[in-house]
Amino acid sequence: MCGIVAYVGNKPCQSLLLAGLKRLEYRGSDSSGIATIEGGKSRVVKTVGRVANLEDKLEETGGLRGAIGMCHTRWATHGGVTDFNAHPHTDDKAGICLIHNGIIENYATLKTLLEEKGHAFKSQTDTEVLAMLIGELYDGDLEKAVQAALREVTGAYGIVVMCEREPDTLVAARKGSPLMVGVGNGEFIVASDGSAIIAHTSQAFALDDYQVVKLTPK
Ligand code: GLU
Repeated sequence: MCGIVAYVGNKPCQSLLLAGLKRLEYRGSDSSGIATIEGGKSRVVKTVGRVANLEDKLEETGGLRGAIGMCHTRWATHGGVTDFNAHPHTDDKAGICLIHNGIIENYATLKTLLEEKGHAFKSQTDTEVLAMLIGELYDGDLEKAVQAALREVTGAYGIVVMCEREPDTLVAARKGSPLMVGVGNGEFIVASDGSAIIAHTSQAFALDDYQVVKLTPK
C-alpha cells in the first residue's frame, strides 16, 4: 500500500503534489505518476522507479500546469512494475483519472463484463478496472458514478477520482486504506498520510470507511 496526494484549488499544483509525494516515499514504492486537468484535458505522466525519475520525465515533457491534480506512488499487487501499470489510470469513455491504494478483489469478473461492453484495457492492474467502471457508469455526475461503482466492488481502497467533464471536482473515498482531507482557503489536499498535508494547512479530517467526499474550490 503506497502513497496518494491530490489537490483541487486555485493554483497550479504540480510542485505541491510532488513535494507531498516525496514525503510519502519512505513507505517504499516501485513506480509513480501524476495527472492534472488543464483546459478541460487531462495529462498523465508516469514511470517506474523513484519520484526523482518522475520529476525528470516531467521536466523532459514540459511539466503540468493544472490547478486540479493527483499523484501516486505504487507498490504493485496486480500487474508487473511497468509504466502502463503505474497510476493514475484513465478510462476510455468519460475522461476519468483515478489513483488507488489497496486491492480490488473482484477485478477479474468486472474486467470481463467491461470487455464484453467493448472497453479496451491498457494495463494488467485491478485499479484500471475501477477507472473503467466509473467511466461506464458516468452520466454527468462524478460523485454518483463513483458511489455506483464502489457498490460493485469488493476489496480495500483509498481512491481519488477526477473527470475532464467536471474539471473543478475531486471525489475521494475509502474502505480499509487511510485517506485524509486537508482544508485550505479555496483549496483541498487529499493524502494517504497527514505528512503530505501538514505543510499547507492545520485543518484536516480523516475519512471513515465507506465515506465519499466531493471537493471543489467552492
Ligand atoms: N492494487 C493496485 C496496483 O497494483 C494498487 C497498489 C498500491 O496500493 O500501490 O496497482
